[in-house]
Amino acid sequence: MPFEGDPLALYGKNIIEDYHASLTTKLPQPDADKTNSFDISDEKLRFFPDRKVGILGAGVGGLYTALILDSLGVEYEILEASDRIGGRLSTYKFPGGKMYDYYDAGAMRYPLPKKDAQGRYKNGIMKRLAELIIYPPLNQGLDRLKDRLMPYYYKAREGPNLKPGFYYFNGVYEPVSETPKGPFRGQEMGVDADYIKAGVDAISDDVTKPFVRMLIEDFKHDEKKGWKVMMENDSYSVRAYMAFKYLPSANLELPPQHLPNDVINWCGLLSSSSGGYNRALTESVFSPLAFAKVGGTDFGDVDWKCFDGGSEVLPKMMAKVINETKKDRIHFGKRVTAIRLSDLIIILPPEFPKHKIPSAAEELENYSDAGDLVAGASETIGDPGRRERVIILRGAGVRVSVNSESRVYSHVISTLPLPVLRTIDMGGAEMNTMQKNALRQLQYGPSVKIAILFKEPWWTTKLGIVGGQSFTDLPIRTIVYPSYGADPNAESRVLIASYCWTSDADRLGSLANPQQSDRLKELVLRNLAEAHARVRPNGNLITYDFLQDQFLDMHVKDWSHDPHAMGAFAFFGPGDFQNLYTSLTYPAANKRLHFAGEALSTRHGWVVGALDSAWRAVYEYLSVTDQKDKMKRFTDMWGKNVEWTSPSVQPQYDESGKPLPSNLLYEHFGLIDKAIGAGEIKY
Ligand SMILES: Cc1cc2nc3c(=O)[nH]c(=O)nc-3n(C[C@H](O)[C@H](O)[C@H](O)COP(=O)(O)OP(=O)(O)OC[C@H]3O[C@@H](n4cnc5c(N)ncnc54)[C@H](O)[C@@H]3O)c2cc1C
Repeated sequence: MPFEGDPLALYGKNIIEDYHASLTTKLPQPDADKTNSFDISDEKLRFFPDRKVGILGAGVGGLYTALILDSLGVEYEILEASDRIGGRLSTYKFPGGKMYDYYDAGAMRYPLPKKDAQGRYKNGIMKRLAELIIYPPLNQGLDRLKDRLMPYYYKAREGPNLKPGFYYFNGVYEPVSETPKGPFRGQEMGVDADYIKAGVDAISDDVTKPFVRMLIEDFKHDEKKGWKVMMENDSYSVRAYMAFKYLPSANLELPPQHLPNDVINWCGLLSSSSGGYNRALTESVFSPLAFAKVGGTDFGDVDWKCFDGGSEVLPKMMAKVINETKKDRIHFGKRVTAIRLSDLIIILPPEFPKHKIPSAAEELENYSDAGDLVAGASETIGDPGRRERVIILRGAGVRVSVNSESRVYSHVISTLPLPVLRTIDMGGAEMNTMQKNALRQLQYGPSVKIAILFKEPWWTTKLGIVGGQSFTDLPIRTIVYPSYGADPNAESRVLIASYCWTSDADRLGSLANPQQSDRLKELVLRNLAEAHARVRPNGNLITYDFLQDQFLDMHVKDWSHDPHAMGAFAFFGPGDFQNLYTSLTYPAANKRLHFAGEALSTRHGWVVGALDSAWRAVYEYLSVTDQKDKMKRFTDMWGKNVEWTSPSVQPQYDESGKPLPSNLLYEHFGLIDKAIGAGEIKY
């Protein structure tokens, strides 16, 4: 089973192979001696590509790119708009608080794969993150990143006198348990008795499990039967599939018809965030497949972890290693405003052999002929004090503007969140129509977290809850109890009183400003009091008055209104991900502007998605510049992603019959180049 433990790798591979098959049918058939493989013949691309690469964004994706380039000896610098490191890894420490009085406003939990008998991480969707955590440079000295990992209780910690989290819907309280959850007054929502009897968990499972089972068969037998069925249903959102296509399995003893609206609304209330069923069905099948223990496979065999000190520990340690190698490569307060193709000026030492200069290069008699390009960011090879020959390569650079200033790089890897990228002037970046449309169409989901610092961790001291979550239909929707700081000597008094997505976050987000903080505080405390009122059967301790008295401080993070994020993470509707993934995995600006960031991976919505996309962007950069020596080191050190390094469907050979570099990435570039040449993909 080549994709053991990582169905999302197969997801990516299938998307790319399908796209290639559809492109091939639109393109003229290759001559016998021509191939679909990428032709690395542009000498300008190969000329000193490693002098300086521009990395946009100092989130985990940008920092990972930097660590990789460092390991390969490639020069780079990072431009970051804000004054901090980490992007959506953002730990807020309450002023004056104790050691554990913090919360993670962005990413907070990581389902890492389990380790094998030799202590190595097994396969799994988070393997790249797990391997980053044990990367030796991040584990030098006394403060070692791997030692910062601690358990994250996805479900509340179990033990004597400890209580689970709970569901509180339609005024009904029920502890979280292994048994199916219960109807929560479904009848009053218009749900018929048959559906109530079957139960919301069984119905929800019945919608996605048949696809899951077929996909597992695909993994086992390296086939595409399940995938084909999945793709036949790919135009559906979860809601549309339930309403127009789904027929319940016989064992549920339900009417043999699509689900009525009231039933869909009831299932949606109890299984998803408001509007969460507008997500693509395919996405909703693949994400549980990656985690759930289904069909006896080891998918989902994970250890949930978080970082002691908060998730910001990870980017801070990465930045420390980057700064140790060479100072001042991360530039803060540099908000990128425009990206465009540009000429590249290169200053060569007098002894530089002439025959090595690309034939397309023009020599500048007078250094000052280069005008503002030289002032921007010229490449200097050799001793800058002995500048004698200055050459200009037309269209061989990428100019990045930061307000009035600009810099020119041979290649740029952008890890900017895609909604932000869309607000940047990309007029001269030579993006094709598919790429521009994919950016426009992308839905970036909102998310709001509201954390409150209390005088004491009452959920533990009064109710016995440590870690885990509670779920409610009240506006706060999900309550997350801290997994850290359960020890009375090092306690955390911070509760994530609300973690919302989709339209729940949109609405609460309108109160996420200082003018509305009293209103928000009252709403959240009332919701907390109502939701926790029934946890103790022998009398309620958690009243609104009690919580008011306990309240010390509140912090709200609304990701949609953060100008450097413009949303929390990608939330794909039907067909959206395929378009984005196939179009933005091809570089713009004459193959010099590479796109990365969380959304451009099959593992989107996770830190590992940002890492994967960075890996692919570096792989792209090394491929188009044909840096063979570095490529070997790159794959030896940073591994491979099967969705890009799998052999292409048709192996490719050169005219003498010698095999050409042939994998899905090369095939991707080759086919897209061809489609551009044939006018199938337009600019
Ligand atoms: C609420 C929330 C909860 C999450 N929970 C989890 C979780 O539990 N586990 C998990 O694995 N993942 C989780 N994620 C996802 C994870 O945080 C992201 O996938 C990951 O951090 C994205 O990294 P990135 O480098 O792609 O983007 P970012 O972290 O967004 O980095 C982009 C960087 O670009 C900078 N930037 C923006 N505009 C400009 C500009 N114009 N010029 C220069 N720089 C600019 C930004 O300031 C930022 O530093 C969560 C995310 C959110 C928001």
